[in-house]
Amino acid sequence: MTATALEKTATDAGTVEFRELRRAFGPTLALDGLDLGVRAGEFLALLGPSGCGKTTALRMLAGFEQPDSGAVLVDGQDVTRVPAHRRDAGMVFQSYSLFPHLNALDNVAFGLRMRKVRGAARRERAAELLELVGLADKGARFPHQLSGGQQQRIALARALALRPRVLLLDEPLSALDAKVRLALREEIRRLQQELGITTLFVTHDQEEALSVADRVAVMRAGRLEQCAAPAELYGRPATAFVAEFVGTMSRVPGALVGGGGGACVEVLGQRLPVAGPVPGGGAGGEVDVLVRPEAVRVTAEPDGTARVVATAFLGAVVRATVRLADGGEVKADLPAHEAAGLGTGAAVTVTLPEREVLVAERVQV
Ligand code: ATP
Repeated sequence: MTATALEKTATDAGTVEFRELRRAFGPTLALDGLDLGVRAGEFLALLGPSGCGKTTALRMLAGFEQPDSGAVLVDGQDVTRVPAHRRDAGMVFQSYSLFPHLNALDNVAFGLRMRKVRGAARRERAAELLELVGLADKGARFPHQLSGGQQQRIALARALALRPRVLLLDEPLSALDAKVRLALREEIRRLQQELGITTLFVTHDQEEALSVADRVAVMRAGRLEQCAAPAELYGRPATAFVAEFVGTMSRVPGALVGGGGGACVEVLGQRLPVAGPVPGGGAGGEVDVLVRPEAVRVTAEPDGTARVVATAFLGAVVRATVRLADGGEVKADLPAHEAAGLGTGAAVTVTLPEREVLVAERVQV
């Protein structure tokens, strides 16, 4: 990749703001007051279950969709009513959306031609972009002569050719096989960082979001649930929904207890303070306590009322599934050296660290 290609592609602006966006499709509320800010140069993943409004939000930023109310701002300017072709956004879709009758170079040059960039300059720019995505030698190939990963690289080059202020990626990896997917997501991230271009990346794959994004915005039913850096989202989820959507989480039955300074919960014979929202019901209310596998401590104990029912080797740790006395199950990560004495059938006790826990309404299983 040449320095000139980078300099000519880099932009130094690109803040985005979604303000109170609402959009209904008939009876379906796709966006229900979405508020979200994206910083210049940031790689932000929009994460959430199917139908939560991620694509609708992205399409509104691209100008393909209009909100019923609310506004979209780019660099502080209201672009809500600006047509798509004047939005300055480059978009890559889930399906390979290249023009089948154009070769790779002409696909990349397409937008430049629409902008009336002259022949030589257009070809030079398209060639730079092909080099940027590592396909300098594939310009003459037609889409059907390229692999899925290569086609998405071309689509990326095409999206970047017009030096957009924002790059919009709508599940660009989901049609690719696992290995290509992994390689391309790392490449997209590296490219994004080198160019410093504000990027919104829609995915429903939490592992993908956490591994590439500066911040992850978790959406639920058309609204923002939490937007935070991956480590914070994982370590300090604001709600039970985020906690369970991001990473592995077990539910352990507990009971709310009253008391002065804030709510507490009785769980596994311990009394722990509650972080975040407390479901209704007050003292005595039955809840589920949410725990990460790495936070659960399992100790071999001949009189223990819990049993290891399965183990899975994960490399650095062994993930044990432990059945509790009341029938519930909890996942626990055991360091490899401790796991040897804790095989299937082992009697154990389970404890949690003495710190705040998230609780959610009890789910009967
Ligand atoms: P997925 O991960 O499945 O792509 P998503 O989070 O991107 O989902 P959206 O595509 O934004 O969700 O859709 C949000 C809701 O709006 C869904 O219930 C969807 O069926 C509905 N919807 C989106 N576009 C339209 C449309 N043009 N007409 C009718 N309903 C629509």
